[in-house]
Amino acid sequence: MRLLAAAFAATVLAASAFPQSDIVSTREMDRINWMEFGETVPSKIDTVLLPTGTLEPHGVANNGADNTAPTAMAKAIAKRTNAMIAPTLPYGITGSLEGYPGAFRISEKAYRPFVKEILEGLAKNGFRNIIILNGHGGGQTAVLQSVAEEVAIERKVRTLVINWWSFASDVTLEVFGEDGGHAGWNETAFIQAIDPTLVDQKRYEKDMATAYPRPGTWSAVPFPSSIGLYKEGEGYPKFDQAKADEYFRKVTDKVAGLIIEVRRKWDKAKL
Ligand SMILES: [Zn+2]
Repeated sequence: MRLLAAAFAATVLAASAFPQSDIVSTREMDRINWMEFGETVPSKIDTVLLPTGTLEPHGVANNGADNTAPTAMAKAIAKRTNAMIAPTLPYGITGSLEGYPGAFRISEKAYRPFVKEILEGLAKNGFRNIIILNGHGGGQTAVLQSVAEEVAIERKVRTLVINWWSFASDVTLEVFGEDGGHAGWNETAFIQAIDPTLVDQKRYEKDMATAYPRPGTWSAVPFPSSIGLYKEGEGYPKFDQAKADEYFRKVTDKVAGLIIEVRRKWDKAKL
């Protein structure tokens, strides 16, 4: 019995260490050694996924939700998009939630050149397609898009920046039947699907959420709630595990589909 259990454990371990029928022992740049990297990039894999996020409050989810989400997404889609995964950049440009406990804000002055050198390093290492899986919006999105454009032009690589929560807003409506929000039902569900222990349901109360103001009506810093609803009355977290799992699957499918489609068109146009 004990021997059988050990044999079973060894099989499971082997399967997780070497994903079945993959062309590389790991998709993570953090985990691969230089020799295998050299044999793999760019000859077999010329796409890289770079998750970017920040540390900021997220209702009853973890402060690092914007890192947790794109990191898990990268792991879920790396094989089917034939990509390597660069280490997550977990510090970012937090905006009006910077005043909450545990939040970090990196200035644009420091962030922009640092991200640029990361993208340049990925290009130097042979990646032709650099995909930024961004987990945090606000001012960070514009900086990432502008840096990605510069590097694409200067290094003759192809870059794609994906803000998953916006790109998948139709999936939010499909799965939850309503709009979401920052740390709203959609984002909280995404985290719940990855690791339910990161969502502290018993601390939740509806009063933790505020609808974002229409542009030009009012603004407050710090924003009075760590849950910001895109639409009044919609997007309150409801912690439905089945919906969370469905949402994770559909969002990651949609993101993977975009990467594959954009890359196919780049190739077709010989860019
Ligand atoms: Zn977030």
